[in-house]
Amino acid sequence: MRKLFIMIFILSFQLSLHTQSKSIEERVQELLSKMTIEEKVGQMTQVTLQVVSKRQGNKNQKHELDEKKLEEAIVKYNVGSILNVYDVAHTTEYWHEVITKIQDIATKKTRLGIPVIYGIDAIHGATYTKGATLFPQSLAIASTFNKNLAERMGEITSIETRASGIPWNFYPVMDLGRQPLWPRLWETFGEDVYLSQQMGMAYIKGAQGDDISRPDKLATCLKHYVGYSFPFNGFDRTPAYLSERTMREYFLPPFEAGIKAGAKTIMVNSSEVDGIPGHANYHLLTEVLRHELKFDGFVVSDWEDINRLHTRDRIAPSLKEAVKIAVMAGVDMSMVPYDFSFYENLVELVKEGSVPMWRIDEAVSRILKVKFELGLFENPYPRKDYLHKFASLEHTQANLDAARESIILAKNENNILPLKKNKRVFVTGPTANKLSPLNGGWTITWQGNEEELYPQEKNTILEAIQKKIGNKNVLYEEGVSFEKELNVNNAIQKAKQSDVIILCLGEPAYCETPGNINDLTLPEAQLNYALKMIATGKPIILVMVEGRPRVITKIFDKVKGALFAFLPGMEGGNAIADVLFGDVNPSGKLPITYPKYPNSIVHYDYKPIENSNENRFDPLLPFGFGLSYTKFSYSNLRLNKSEMTEDDEITVSVDVKNEGSLTGKEVVLMYITDVYGQVSRPNKQLKGFEKIELKPGETKTVQFKISKEHLSFIGLNNKRIVEPGEFIVTIDNLQKKFYLK
Ligand code: BGC
Repeated sequence: MRKLFIMIFILSFQLSLHTQSKSIEERVQELLSKMTIEEKVGQMTQVTLQVVSKRQGNKNQKHELDEKKLEEAIVKYNVGSILNVYDVAHTTEYWHEVITKIQDIATKKTRLGIPVIYGIDAIHGATYTKGATLFPQSLAIASTFNKNLAERMGEITSIETRASGIPWNFYPVMDLGRQPLWPRLWETFGEDVYLSQQMGMAYIKGAQGDDISRPDKLATCLKHYVGYSFPFNGFDRTPAYLSERTMREYFLPPFEAGIKAGAKTIMVNSSEVDGIPGHANYHLLTEVLRHELKFDGFVVSDWEDINRLHTRDRIAPSLKEAVKIAVMAGVDMSMVPYDFSFYENLVELVKEGSVPMWRIDEAVSRILKVKFELGLFENPYPRKDYLHKFASLEHTQANLDAARESIILAKNENNILPLKKNKRVFVTGPTANKLSPLNGGWTITWQGNEEELYPQEKNTILEAIQKKIGNKNVLYEEGVSFEKELNVNNAIQKAKQSDVIILCLGEPAYCETPGNINDLTLPEAQLNYALKMIATGKPIILVMVEGRPRVITKIFDKVKGALFAFLPGMEGGNAIADVLFGDVNPSGKLPITYPKYPNSIVHYDYKPIENSNENRFDPLLPFGFGLSYTKFSYSNLRLNKSEMTEDDEITVSVDVKNEGSLTGKEVVLMYITDVYGQVSRPNKQLKGFEKIELKPGETKTVQFKISKEHLSFIGLNNKRIVEPGEFIVTIDNLQKKFYLK
């Protein structure tokens, strides 16, 4: 008997060595060769958790899986992927239960035992796991201009998501944020191509590392490929009109960078570009993505969007035709997500020969490859290796660091900030005493607006101020909701009893279509309330907490100080209080241009024609703007040569000095201007940035390299070209010229 055991052990050991010695490609092909049409199409099918649930979770009841439905989905329909939550965050323990049940069925009750890949929107941390570390949202992370923080956010999000048993994250958003009305602006890294590329790549590096089978790493998903973020009318999921040149100059490069960084999956644009819905766009999904950019991961549809080719866009006369169009355009997996219609239609299409087998094999191989890379075949179950790190102090500290660096000091008249801790302050406004506006959408629930579900131990702005300077020096009255003035007289009384008013305005939590607005201006009620506070004669510090730059021109010149926080996450209250009272020297910079007027939407990299004759580039504050409590001076901008060839590089150096009496962090921004071009060239473009810390009196030299990539652009022929000629480097208010020969 003992001998038998030993033999079985040796045999299985050899077998596993044999399996492991095969390349992933070989394992994929071997498995594929055993699969039926139904099993293959099942791998391409993704349903939402709701489909396999008995009961929705909410604040009053716990979610419950329906094991019969789960078995039906996985065994009868061969479903290869499940997503999301229904409808509130679960604990890590409950996630382990859910994922274990799913994988038990997938690996033990199906013929081939292929594990399910579970995907989720862990966009600013493990959004749908209770108590997770929830970071500043992307726009605020971009405001830090600190790649290390984006990488750290990627690492921690991965650890906590994978510790919840989930190996696939629908993030980062690589859409460029150039339409401020769009309700998903805050999910982007802002308006600039280079900044988005750098932050996105750093995030992917942190999240995936070089081995996604590790229990602290996961597969990322670039979204929403491509052009989704530039809806002409500003509403979510409405058409963009982008020429091939504009697409390639602005919207495509962040995705290119994400692909270079190794992202494993891509999600498709839910809307349409130039009349072609994202999910039907063969040119973008296959010619550009596969042939040009050489993306070798898999493409997942967005929510219900294949169906919508029929039901909404009306480019397909039936659901079945919609499936054919999307699959042939290049969609590998359908987020169906409510039923098995995609599966049934696609099986039929293959059997009748309307969708060729090679296309199915191609899609399934790509999906299986990622499952192998994730190590799901070796261990599909939730792993506990990193559970002890979930929401650990170390993670909270990293989150606080990120939130602190994201806060932008937008105004500081006569150095009113930082405030002394013995001041009597009146804290007021709709964002002062709630956690949900600090976090925004995709927090605990999809919309993120269920304040009662937020962790009680986290601090709102008001609570953080009270903890910092003591309750007795803090008066509070909400005064105004997001849309309506409340108890204004009480507020005026309290304002009069204090030395300074901390006026916290902005937006409630929202995301996607429910966040659509018709007017970028901050709601009248908040502006009127602000004017009443201003009329008390007390100095005002404005704190803006918002997902997009709501227009505040009517009040901005009347306040003494201002912080722009965007959506600073779960530690946002603490970070804002730290900056207000000088425990942190602010170092955030605007990742977008803050508009002065609702109809004058401009970007910092405007074209010459936008700022000539009668036209003026006239924002409230430009991209890259952000003050500090200390003063930095720039000098000695120099280039190591004034001419370069295409194979050459130029080294740019500049000295930055802290002239003040406080240690501070400064973001050094290097812009390049191409003086003449065959198509009109932007006023300037960011091509390098670095965040440094300087002690009082300290000077550091910062260096950047310029190579041909930094000088290239999309020319008349819609191809990326480099033209000889004159260029200008700008850092702060210093400039130097050079020539490309
Ligand atoms: C969003 C995606 C998201 C997906 C799954 C869609 O509505 O557009 O960003 O990943 O839902 O939740």
